[in-house]
Amino acid sequence: MTTAQALNVHERWFLFDAGEGVQVSLRRHKVPFSKIHHVFVSHMHGDHVLGLPGLIGSMNLLGRKEALTLHGPEALEGWLMENLRLTATHLQFQLNFEVNPPGEVRWAWEQSTFRITAFPVQHRIPTHGFRVDELPRMGSIRRAAIADLGLSFEEIRLLKSGRAIRNGGVQPEEVCDAGPPIRSYAFAADTRPSTQVVEAVTGATCLYHEATFKTDLAARARETGHSTAEQAARVAVDARVGRLVLGHFSSRYRDLTPLLAEAQAIFPSTTLASDGMKILL
Ligand SMILES: [Zn+2]
Ligand SMILES: [Zn+2]
Repeated sequence: MTTAQALNVHERWFLFDAGEGVQVSLRRHKVPFSKIHHVFVSHMHGDHVLGLPGLIGSMNLLGRKEALTLHGPEALEGWLMENLRLTATHLQFQLNFEVNPPGEVRWAWEQSTFRITAFPVQHRIPTHGFRVDELPRMGSIRRAAIADLGLSFEEIRLLKSGRAIRNGGVQPEEVCDAGPPIRSYAFAADTRPSTQVVEAVTGATCLYHEATFKTDLAARARETGHSTAEQAARVAVDARVGRLVLGHFSSRYRDLTPLLAEAQAIFPSTTLASDGMKILL
């Protein structure tokens, strides 16, 4: 099975990986291509990138004019541009490339209400996972406070985004209701279990972690840069995440319940990813 995840964050769509068949899945699940402006690619293995040329070609045929930004390994740009050249795909829109340097954390994308970070993981080739974090928000501002303090529009905006005004004289907590709980999602890509990953995903509301093998194949997992279901569950425990979703299963497993059981014995809040699965946070 190939990897691709579409995320809707505050009405914006993002794609994490683009394995073969991604455009078929996006159509099936009614994710509009035109609303995707950023694609994050974890690494250059075929099961994570081979859907990209087809997706970009279809965006072109649909008359796209808006730029598309691809965040990924350094090799992504050369590979994709050569692919488009050889297939005579003449793009009518701009492609931007943002490189995730091997082994480095990068603030990949940020706007006023959330942030996406790329973090290094441990696979056979340079690979990054990604994490989406909502930024703290305050709830509604109390009407009485607006009148009593004579707050300006700009001051209200600052307070609602969690900042103090008037040289710290008015703190957001004094005049705003508590905001909604902050949610976060981490995509740990293809990786061995690693303390780097634990640090990067700590406290996530939901963690997606690969579980290519069952524990009896732990040696094979280590050799190939993958994890077992049990190891993924230990990462979830150590990182104190809210829930765990396992994916990237080896095609040798017809029945995945032993992998689920193995993980749930350690981290009960575990589910198995499946094609078309929707997760609401
Ligand atoms: Zn891989
Ligand atoms: Zn893979």
